[in-house]
Amino acid sequence: MRHSMQNRPLLISSLITHAERVAGDSEIVSRLVERGSEFATHRYTYADAHRRSRQLANALTRFDIRHGDRIATLAWNGFRHFELYFGVSGMGAVIHTVNPRLFPEQITYIVNHAEDQLLFFDLTFAPLVAKLAPLLKSVRGFVAMTDRAHCPEIPGLTVWCYEDLLSAETDDFDWPLLDEQSPSSLCYTSGTTGNPKGVLYAHRTTLLHTYAAMSADAFCLTSRDAVLPVVPMFHVNAWGLPYICAATGAKLVLPGHALDGASLYRLFEEEGVTLSAGVPTVWMGLLGHMRTHGLKFSSLRETVIGGSACPPAMIDAFEDEHGVTVLHAWGMTELSPLGSMCRLKLKHLALPKPARRAIQAKQGKAIFGMEMKIVDGDGRALPHDDVAFGDLMVRGPWVVEQYFREEHSALVEGWFPTGDVARIDADGYLTITDRSKDVIKSGGEWISSIDIENLAMAHPAVAEAAVIAVPHPKWDERPLLVIVRRAGADLTREDMLAHLSGKIAKWWMPDDVVFATELPHTATGKVLKTKLREIYRDHVLPSTAAR
Ligand code: AMP
Repeated sequence: MRHSMQNRPLLISSLITHAERVAGDSEIVSRLVERGSEFATHRYTYADAHRRSRQLANALTRFDIRHGDRIATLAWNGFRHFELYFGVSGMGAVIHTVNPRLFPEQITYIVNHAEDQLLFFDLTFAPLVAKLAPLLKSVRGFVAMTDRAHCPEIPGLTVWCYEDLLSAETDDFDWPLLDEQSPSSLCYTSGTTGNPKGVLYAHRTTLLHTYAAMSADAFCLTSRDAVLPVVPMFHVNAWGLPYICAATGAKLVLPGHALDGASLYRLFEEEGVTLSAGVPTVWMGLLGHMRTHGLKFSSLRETVIGGSACPPAMIDAFEDEHGVTVLHAWGMTELSPLGSMCRLKLKHLALPKPARRAIQAKQGKAIFGMEMKIVDGDGRALPHDDVAFGDLMVRGPWVVEQYFREEHSALVEGWFPTGDVARIDADGYLTITDRSKDVIKSGGEWISSIDIENLAMAHPAVAEAAVIAVPHPKWDERPLLVIVRRAGADLTREDMLAHLSGKIAKWWMPDDVVFATELPHTATGKVLKTKLREIYRDHVLPSTAAR
């Protein structure tokens, strides 16, 4: 029996069309990459962005771009990148947002693997493009995302100018009524081992993710918000925010290349930003700057923090010093990316502050559409009692099934193994305790590195902390705590051990504490633990030396 309802496909073009209809005059403000360190912004509206996305679609057609063709970008968060999100996917091609912070060899690998046809780049990346262009076999056109006056010359390469391409076209373009299962966008995981793997999203998966992520128990984003995604548009679609903002018509503030504390703070204040999102390392820089200069946020209401564990001390700093609510979120490239978000339930609101904060430090509940379970080494489901921890498995309509151009399914009995280790409590709140590769296996038991890191970062003298496994002759592995002190702070190994003492089980206590001037990070701002393990591979723990 056929139901009575219309069968309209879920398409990315409908987002920008809707934005123009209901929020045509809502602003998109971008910090200009062309002006380098000079603070200059570009502002226009969703109606302008829609018009220019259609011009772009005409320009792509002139390049003979067909349905499913991949178009690469090497770009910051800015209005032209936003137009590419809608122009490319809307006309049926696939936008492949490349993370410029990857090693050049990885960029070459993924552009060749994706067989990108055109590459659009911000001026910052002109030297990178000049170096890589001869190696990018499938790319038949390079487009600088700027105007004629700023268009770079790259010897031996024809560089098209974005504004010239657009001004040669009309905005007369009807978005095709695509099959909602058509691919729309492509992101590669920034794996720390092996080659990056591609996740090819569809119009349908992107739209379903948009509905779920904008909802009240997730981003809770409305047409009354001004949103500044610090998370880059080259990292899992800036957590979906360009799509969500178009769906709601929220004001969008795009910070370009200037992610330092001073530039971000100025933009937050000048544009009246109410909601933001980013990884902990970025907030560390911004909070540090604000602390040094005695600054406060005047409009920011909430900030979403994810990508790696948000230390409870950061939640305290945002809430107690600035009155800004932190929403801890968990996700991954394979999940488009949002899996869970930490918002309190009604019954939590009356709890004393420490109890509320303990919940906020968790990665939150699955958003509707996402199913989660934790399993032991034999794949048996573990209880949701906030004690048992195991491998986190997920499934849902915006979760990867098979990596791009891989032969085999990525699933195990219908579930995607995330590679994260987690606990889940009776209320459904998730706590990520580790990446499975980073778990410390001591005497057959597991020690959570994130739990110890969170405690260490609660010490006022600590800027950043990481716990890694060091080989041990008796216990196989023991934890080593690596600390970056806050500028000017004094902290000894003994101070730190005393700080941890009594807060964790005795056998979880790090065998040693060492101090570093900085920690290595991945292209997406996570602590690069493979590198740390390499650095400290030969570190002699006092417990080993004493044997
Ligand atoms: P990516 O695909 O680069 O977004 O990385 C996804 C991975 O980042 C996840 O599998 C987790 O290991 C980690 N991650 C993301 N959010 C969090 C979080 N809130 N807490 C701890 N780890 C996180």
